[in-house]
Amino acid sequence: QEDDFKRVISHAKEYGYVFQSSEIYDGLSAVYDYAQNGVELKKNIRDYWWKAMVQLNDNIVGIDAAIFMHPTTWKASGHVDAFNDPLIDNKDSKKRYRADVLVEDYVGKIEAKIEKEVAKAAKRFGDKFDKAQFLATNPRVVEYQEQATSILKRLGRSLENEDLADVKKLIEELEIACPMSGSKNWTDVKQFNLMFGTKLGASAENAMDLYLRPETAQGIFVNFLNVQKTGRMKIPFGIAQTGKAFRNEIVARQFIFRMREFEQMEMQFFIKPGTQQEWYEKWKETRMKWHLSLGMGEENYRFHDHEKLAHYADAAADIEFRFPFGFKELEGIHSRTDFDLGSHEKFSGKKLQYFDPETRESYVPYVLETSIGLDRMFLAVFANSLREEQLENGSFRTVLKLPAVLAPTKAAVFPLVKKDGLPEVAHQIIEDLKWDFNVLYDEKDAVGRRYRRQDANGTPFCITVDHQTLEDNTVTIRHRDSMEQERVAIADLKGIIHKAVDM
Ligand code: ATP
Repeated sequence: QEDDFKRVISHAKEYGYVFQSSEIYDGLSAVYDYAQNGVELKKNIRDYWWKAMVQLNDNIVGIDAAIFMHPTTWKASGHVDAFNDPLIDNKDSKKRYRADVLVEDYVGKIEAKIEKEVAKAAKRFGDKFDKAQFLATNPRVVEYQEQATSILKRLGRSLENEDLADVKKLIEELEIACPMSGSKNWTDVKQFNLMFGTKLGASAENAMDLYLRPETAQGIFVNFLNVQKTGRMKIPFGIAQTGKAFRNEIVARQFIFRMREFEQMEMQFFIKPGTQQEWYEKWKETRMKWHLSLGMGEENYRFHDHEKLAHYADAAADIEFRFPFGFKELEGIHSRTDFDLGSHEKFSGKKLQYFDPETRESYVPYVLETSIGLDRMFLAVFANSLREEQLENGSFRTVLKLPAVLAPTKAAVFPLVKKDGLPEVAHQIIEDLKWDFNVLYDEKDAVGRRYRRQDANGTPFCITVDHQTLEDNTVTIRHRDSMEQERVAIADLKGIIHKAVDM
């Protein structure tokens, strides 16, 4: 697993997807730059989300709010008081952990034991294996499940009651029951605020303390009434936004999974109080469908319903994805009630109410939120797509099986040889295709090598111009995943590629 993840990181660098930030100065921890291919993949993911959320829903519109916001925003949102991570230091290894993440890692070990039992039983029972029944009845597995649930419940309770001493105790107990760090020597758990501060204004006495936004959502809440009125929006309606957010993450590891500067894609859906359960279920389902539409395997997703709820939520679930280091949160779906708008009303003294023209009542709407990290989605797509395949002749190929709709380059065009007018024809094809797609030209090395390069790059199609092309205006088009080749007319290329890559 660790090796798989290392391969993902090095492939991302080698093929121009993700670089460490400021690498020539030895990098900046948990900050990354998107390179020439990465920026295209990221844009395509963002567009795929935007199309599904904004373009296809006539009651959802987008905004692009500023990163800087009035500082009172973060008092109203609760971030000044409550945006804290519980930290614990291991005195022996001098390593710092997020206490809740550490507990979840212990639980992950228990879950791995369950998976092992399941795999063993599946092998033993073959076709007759009923996983659901096994999970419900096997005594050992049931015990593991109960253990995991009770640990998470206790963690939730302790954090909610701000009983940090109990969180420490829990970690000490877990370390004895299920040794992981090899140490019993922990500091107390401390809370640490995750917001980055900065100053607005030139002179020291007039400068205003600002924060870099730790989430994009608040830009939507403070604009709720402006959008509702100018767009004449009727409840239920949504506002969507993508943009940078900043968190001074303490345990920043796992590549672009947890960054200090990252991008979110959020949508707040404004609804009538009392309808939140129905919309919560609906958005859970809608968002899961969006993920599955990319074809990355149903078995790689699961819901995780929160027992421990944030101060603003009355229900919350994560969509978890199977990353190279296990199932982890990819997207959150939160029923936020009227916490945000109500709180902004209080702090600003401005009414943030919706007037229902039918019932002639005014009320503060409830909010249903979907929030996904663009970088985390990038990692999910990239890691899931990277494969090492053995071919019929025994050799191996590295192939990045990106969903075609997301691939940075849609087609590469090759002249079979660098003479006889073939490069000119290849360039003509590029001239024609480049108005519709990102395409590239490659004439270096044997065609087989060029195929391998594009496989590793994630390009879904390779188009080869050969001598026959000069006679009948046909080319071969080779499909990345099946490696099949077919002869098609140059005039049909656009249609074939559109069919495969259009959103
Ligand atoms: P986690 O528990 O992993 O820290 P969170 O519950 O704090 O995440 P939210 O505040 O709900 O996350 O943010 C919504 C989404 O934003 C997450 O599902 C994740 O995809 C993304 N996200 C949050 N923090 C980061 C980060 N530091 N780096 C990259 N993506 C992030």
